[in-house]
Amino acid sequence: MAGIVLFIVSCLMFIIGKLSPSSSISLPRELLTHYICNKLRLDNDAIELASRDYGKLVQETPLGVLYPSLVDDIATLVKFSYDSPNPFSIAARGRSHSIRGQAMAHNGVVVQMTSLKHSSYDSGIRVVRNPSSLLGFYADVGGGELWIDVLLATLEHGLAPVSWTDYLHLTVGGTISNAGISGQAFVYGPQISNVHEMDVITGKGELVTCSKHINSELFYAVLGGLGQFGIITRARVALGRLQTGYVKWVKMLYHDFSSFTRDQEHLISINGGLDYLEGFVVVNQSPPNNLRSSFFSPSDQLKINSLVAKHGVIYCLEVVKYYDDLTIDTVEKELPLLLKGLIYLPGFIFKKDKSFVEFLNRVRIGEMELEETGTQDVPHPWLNLFVPKSTIMDFNAGVFLEILKKQNKNKGAYSCLPDEPKQAVAVSMVIIVCYGDCGDNSNAVMNTLVYLMWWDDRMSAVIPDEDTFYTVGLLFSSGEDDWEVFEDLNKEILNFCDKAGIKAKQYFPHYSTKEEWMNHFGTKWDTFQERKAEFDPKMILSPGQRIFNNSV
Ligand code: FAD
Repeated sequence: MAGIVLFIVSCLMFIIGKLSPSSSISLPRELLTHYICNKLRLDNDAIELASRDYGKLVQETPLGVLYPSLVDDIATLVKFSYDSPNPFSIAARGRSHSIRGQAMAHNGVVVQMTSLKHSSYDSGIRVVRNPSSLLGFYADVGGGELWIDVLLATLEHGLAPVSWTDYLHLTVGGTISNAGISGQAFVYGPQISNVHEMDVITGKGELVTCSKHINSELFYAVLGGLGQFGIITRARVALGRLQTGYVKWVKMLYHDFSSFTRDQEHLISINGGLDYLEGFVVVNQSPPNNLRSSFFSPSDQLKINSLVAKHGVIYCLEVVKYYDDLTIDTVEKELPLLLKGLIYLPGFIFKKDKSFVEFLNRVRIGEMELEETGTQDVPHPWLNLFVPKSTIMDFNAGVFLEILKKQNKNKGAYSCLPDEPKQAVAVSMVIIVCYGDCGDNSNAVMNTLVYLMWWDDRMSAVIPDEDTFYTVGLLFSSGEDDWEVFEDLNKEILNFCDKAGIKAKQYFPHYSTKEEWMNHFGTKWDTFQERKAEFDPKMILSPGQRIFNNSV
């Protein structure tokens, strides 16, 4: 009883604090006396947590943080804002693994989506194995669920999602709001191409079920929609039969970029070939082990270091073939055939066997190692780009071999990925760079991942206006005080692309003016704007993206 009284008193004190005449902006008084008030946290710990993200570049303070236990709590909050004469902004927050405040809501309310995980009623992961279903196998998954939990839950049924991100400790709603890309995308497309249906709370507070066939405008708007049109509370995700418990994991090294890209494009064109393909660029003498996996033994690392010392920049192609106890003999024969004719540096091929889960969860394993050394909680001024294939050689010459090599003080990491769309083939490359005071030498690498993806033009996600493109991610880590150096480097790269006529598009886009956003969306801008007017007319949702409300 005393505890309840204490709770009520402290709640009232927070409310009085928030409503004090000295604070010019406050949440509406009616909200603070509403029944969802007991799920709304106004304390410093909650506010502080919701003011930060993985990037550590931006800090925006909300007025409150909702910890929903029911989907209805979120709908109630959004409806409340929508009906209010002074609507307040609302941001869904997954794991806040954005890097530029995209999941923040200055003077608004942040909705902590992972709190729905604890609700057995509304959320969770439900696997459907209905052989007569036209959709095949699928799982209904709460928007706040982590992909790692989806993996573990579906595996119990001998099934698993087909398309992944490299890192699985991200929420389903968070990655679907972008695209969700990893080395499987050349077979299955990005995660947004593997969603059958969603439940979405629009900016009017309405809970709407949408799919290709019902409320399709909302469905396509939300896929890659940067959280602008609604909060995803459930996604129906395609699953494949998992006839595999293990993977054959192979890395090959190159010093010639055109051989490297030639081999990638060849491998992803083989039907029924590999299950995963990515690549890395190494620009210094450190081994290409990093956040993405510890793969090379110390003696291999020495061998690679001398190769980098000799060539300056080398490229690493990473491929995987899944297998199980029944197919182990077959895979031993198939893999050499798939790799036959590749023109990697003789002697520079490295192989490993891992369990399927260990492989998919490899980035988390690398992350835990960084956490132990305290080198993970640093600013991450990342830049992710989609670069058209026609200009990827220019990109290599200008960015990998010039700008980044020049910056190659002692640390770096790159990655890139390719993908195969229904209408168009897209090759993509991601580059991760870690210079500066960001950890021990194991971070001092560049990685290149290459994918092919499937894209549907009706989705909000933006890709270059070319059938084939690379995704390039410059994943810098910096010291607390020198992240602006990397922001300048990012600007230099963007300027170089502009001047060289490389029509790159940003993945996880970030711009400061409306003109830049219009330019980013290109021919999709009018539709994007119309959809915003229809589904979130009061511009309540995801203000941290700074598309419609630059002053968040
Ligand atoms: P948040 O950062 O919390 O939110 C992102 C945006 O989505 C915000 O605008 C937010 O308001 C909105 N949002 C969140 N939840 C919902 C919801 N339920 N409904 C509607 N909108 C919502 N991406 C890849 O594609 N491939 C990778 O391999 C990959 N690897 C990564 C590795 C690391 C270490 C990190 C830090 C990021 C990586 N990313 C990758 C990027 C990641 O996919 C995005 O940053 C994603 O948005 C993070 O998910 P989150 O749950 O943290 O979302």
